[in-house]
Amino acid sequence: MTATAVQTHNPLEPMIDQPKPKISKVKRRKPKKLVKGEKMRGFDKVARIPIKVIPTEETIKKPDWIRVKISSPAEVERIKTTLRSQKLHTVCEEAACPNLPQCFGGGTATFMIMGDICTRRCPFCDVAHGLPNALDKEEPRHTAETIQNLKLKYAVITSVDRDDLRDGGAGHFAEVIRESKALSPNCLVEVLVPDFRGRVDKALDILVETPPDVFNHNIETVPRLYRAMRPESDYQGSLDLLKTYKSRCPDIPTKCGFMVGLGETEEEVYALLDDLRAHDVDLITIGQYLQPSKNHAPVDRYVHPDEFQRYMDYGKKIGFFSIWAGPMVRSSYFADRQYYGEDCPAPIRSKRALEKEGKVGC
Ligand code: SF4
Repeated sequence: MTATAVQTHNPLEPMIDQPKPKISKVKRRKPKKLVKGEKMRGFDKVARIPIKVIPTEETIKKPDWIRVKISSPAEVERIKTTLRSQKLHTVCEEAACPNLPQCFGGGTATFMIMGDICTRRCPFCDVAHGLPNALDKEEPRHTAETIQNLKLKYAVITSVDRDDLRDGGAGHFAEVIRESKALSPNCLVEVLVPDFRGRVDKALDILVETPPDVFNHNIETVPRLYRAMRPESDYQGSLDLLKTYKSRCPDIPTKCGFMVGLGETEEEVYALLDDLRAHDVDLITIGQYLQPSKNHAPVDRYVHPDEFQRYMDYGKKIGFFSIWAGPMVRSSYFADRQYYGEDCPAPIRSKRALEKEGKVGC
């Protein structure tokens, strides 16, 4: 029998005294020059952002709740083979998502369109930066055929940022939605779009004409951390994008995701949730930030599952249709289940760790 412990700690302090990561004092080389089509990763990606990322020497030990279920390797291989044969990318692979085996193993994937090179340089993200290649005109058809071949009932389409395109890639998104709906009319399509900074009106004019089933845009973090974590983005711009889309397509659910563990406080997370509710967002995802490499922003802390639960309780209280918060939650994590109103899966925890916190009875 399992019992839940009475919470006795100050909710503004992490429950576990976590050491801060050690930073490296090694002198850095010059970053590589941008070459069209060439991927800049790690140090080369983040070398020119305003607030420098100092490489970490040692990372904070991961707690027991940072765990994923192992799923069928055969299913993972089947999806990878289909994707490669259609020259498609998934954000699951490009961003080294820890849930990949679980999602691919369950027959779902999040397609990343418009290439695998992003024009932005967010220091938390493992997607490569650079000067992207021209759009692949065949990609909408290939994506639609893959959704059909994999018999998906719910597909998530996301992209890198394409600040080099006049519409930010909105027209390409619309093509993918149109072709996917034509080949798989029963498949729900969620789009996870960039912020279209500087071209929002043009992009929205295109996107409202070809509505998806869910319109998702990630705000990623609290406003105080924007300069360091989203140096080329604008907090209010992201909120406005979500609200404007909702005002123009009131029947389409809007969704937004962000990470914790980047240096925000619990109070700032509540304020962010208030902002999202005030901008008519319906569905929320909150997950733990994990550092992809020592050249990425360090993990500030591992948020305890109880704190995630407090975010879900608060989000329900202020009226979101659904809020999923947990260590391994990502913006498209079991997106179909969240869309249908299911509860967020509980984090996988070891019996020993639960006993230590007094959460396992006899
Ligand atoms: S805009 Fe998105 S894909 Fe590009 S670096 Fe930032 S988080 Fe990654």
